[in-house]
Amino acid sequence: MQVETYIKLEEAILLEGEMLPVMEHFYTLQGEGAWTGTASYFIRLAGCDVGCHWCDVKESWTVQEKQIMPIQALVEHVLETGCKHVVITGGEPSLYNLNFLVDQLHAHDIAVHIETAGTNPLTASLDWVCLSPKKFKRPIPEVYPLADELKVVVFNKHDFKWAEEHAVHCPEKTRLFLQPEWSKMDKMMPLILTYILENPRWSLSLQTHKWIHIP
Ligand code: SF4
Repeated sequence: MQVETYIKLEEAILLEGEMLPVMEHFYTLQGEGAWTGTASYFIRLAGCDVGCHWCDVKESWTVQEKQIMPIQALVEHVLETGCKHVVITGGEPSLYNLNFLVDQLHAHDIAVHIETAGTNPLTASLDWVCLSPKKFKRPIPEVYPLADELKVVVFNKHDFKWAEEHAVHCPEKTRLFLQPEWSKMDKMMPLILTYILENPRWSLSLQTHKWIHIP
């Protein structure tokens, strides 16, 4: 097969979602938000269209050819663990067609969650959408109604107003979380605690996996 033909074939399979660029995949506990403490298989896709300056996975921003992985192989890894929750994260996972991956996991009764900045349409039938809006690229309007969870990273005191600007677009069912940015924890935690006590629709999310040194 000619090289050009092979590359085009790979691109087509990527578009169909039968392969995805996987930066890493691992079995651990969900560390943040509504499902904290739940055994979860994480699939971190490479590629991000947002570019937060405080990003702790900057290595996920670019896609390398060697990261392109067939979905079937990925699903086999998940099945080996017996885990019933998969979290698709990134990078920015909404860049990709996730239908094939989600359908394959659902066929094995595995719930599929996504953590997204909501910068692209979510086409797959996901079981839990954690929308984590970023200032560097706003979510598109059609993602807000799908949010089961809104998780806002608090970097400074202006972020409370910013969090409310996003919450207003979410449905009543959406669980609202404020999470201190890791390096600003000491400074922001007292403000977050006060804000939640005065605005009890919001709850606290902590990056517990960092406290207990797990991925
Ligand atoms: Fe990093 Fe996520 Fe921001 Fe992308 S959206 S730059 S992966 S924190």
